[in-house]
This record gives sequence, structure tokens and C-alpha cells, in this order.
Amino acid sequence: KKNLLLKLKGKENVTKSGKKINIYANIGSVGDMGYVLENDAGGIGLFRSEFLYIGRNELPTEEEQFQAYKQAVQNMAGKKVIIRTLDIGADKQADYLNLEKEENPALGYRAIRICLSQPEIFKVQLRALFRASVYGTLSIMYPMITSVEEVMRIKEIVKEVKAELKASDTPYKDVEEGIMIETPAAAMISDELAELVDFFSIGTNDLTQYTLAIDRQNEKLEEFYNPHHKAILKMIKMVVDNAHAAGKWAGICGELGADTELTETFVNMGVDELSVAPSMILKLRKIVREME
Ligand code: PEP
Ligand code: MG
Repeated sequence: KKNLLLKLKGKENVTKSGKKINIYANIGSVGDMGYVLENDAGGIGLFRSEFLYIGRNELPTEEEQFQAYKQAVQNMAGKKVIIRTLDIGADKQADYLNLEKEENPALGYRAIRICLSQPEIFKVQLRALFRASVYGTLSIMYPMITSVEEVMRIKEIVKEVKAELKASDTPYKDVEEGIMIETPAAAMISDELAELVDFFSIGTNDLTQYTLAIDRQNEKLEEFYNPHHKAILKMIKMVVDNAHAAGKWAGICGELGADTELTETFVNMGVDELSVAPSMILKLRKIVREME
């Protein structure tokens, strides 16, 4: 069976009637790159940058981050690498950040909220990302967005970072910048958000958690955690339609993107990209190629 899938390497993700979809990989560190290449990913759709920040005693330096991002884009040799900015807090902790213990960490101080209230931390990462951009095709993605105002503040900070790089004659490229749609708020205003960004990537893990009011970490609730809920599928459709109406693309990088029961539904909805665990890439390619 595995050999049959391997025959699909180098082939397109295209239906019998010619509809194409990008199938990218989710990775947690540069160490996963081998699997990405082995499974013929079209790109990296979600590079969780948290690994650089977790399990250590201090913030990673700009240079350290630059080296990791540069290696990632170089390994992908021109294929797209979408790096998500720091998504720490909630289930992912780093002691040196001195984050207070919270009653509801999933609804708390996390991800972009930390980056916007501590821009000195955010800017180090952005500098590293923009410096790495000249070595390949890098895109930046911002997590846990809920409002237009957040996107506007990100844009201001990015502008400052670019001005600083320019002033020090440091080379960088303008890159594609997108946001994760993983809160119901972002889904509901995705028409407005689509005007402001280059792409959407739907984080169905958190989107399901926040829409169904079910803690994704709570095993007792597993039978109630239903990402096939109509509310989720309707939101995905809405987000994709709003992206397209503004001429932007939309993908899915949560676990649901790898759900083979829904691949056909997603292709029919016009989802432009599925970003999944490397081991799922060729399985999804097979399903897409067998679709009418
Ligand atoms: C998601 O929420 O669907 C997602 C991809 O991000 P993470 O699982 O890292 O929260
Ligand atoms: Mg998430």
C-alpha cells in the first residue's frame, strides 16, 4: 500500500476534471524537514515557531531564529514556507516569559496578544523572518487574530521593522503575510480581514474549541468535540468565499484538513490549500486524483 502511494510522488494534486489544490506540510521544527521532502509536500503550510521558544531558559536570539528560518526556506528550495509567529501561552508555556497562571488559559494571554503587548519580543522574530526571506519563498502567518485593529497594529510594527532593516542596509524581501482564522470572531469578519491580508489559513483545532465552547485539552469532552459540526463547516465555507471575493487564497492547517472524509467537501468548497502532517500528503493526493 505504501509503495502505491509512493508512485504518486511528483504527481499533481488534481481531480479528474482538472481542479487543483495545494497540499502542504505542517511541521514543528526544522528536524521534521526530512519527512516533508520524503512525502513530496508542495510547501510548508504551517511551521510552528514555538519550538524555538519552548524548553529553554531565555528567549531565542534574532540570530538563532534567523538561522532556523533560513535553513527551512533553503531546504524547501523555492517552495513556499509559511512560518507562524509565536503562538505561546495556553497549552504551550515558557517559564522565562513569567506568564501568570490563568483561570482560562485558552481564553487568556497568548499568541498575538503577547506579541502585541510586548512588541520588543515580536520585533526580534519579525527581523529574523524578514532577514531569512531573501533565501527562498517565505510567508508570515499571524495566529489567534480576532479583530481588524490587531491586524492594523501588526502592520505598524512590520513597517517599523522594515524601516529598521532598511536603515541598517540589511537585505529583506516583501513577503506574503496572512492570518490564521481560528476564532469565530475572525471567521465572522473575514470579509473585512480579507481586504487587509494576503491569505487565510483556517486553524480548525482552535476554531472548533472556541465555536463549540469545548476545551480541546479536556479528554472528558472528547465525545462532544465534533469538528464535523455544521457550524464549523459553514464557517469554513464562509471564510473561503470571503477570501476569494477579495482575490485572496484560503487554506486549512488544523487537523481537520487531513480528515479524508472531508477532502472532497473541501475541494468542492474551493479550499486552495490543505496543510497536513507529512504522512498524510500522499493519501490526500490519492483521494484528490480519484475525484471527479
Ligand atoms: C489550529 O488551531 O487549528 C492550529 C493549526 O494551531 P495549533 O494547533 O498550533 O493551535
Ligand atoms: Mg491554534
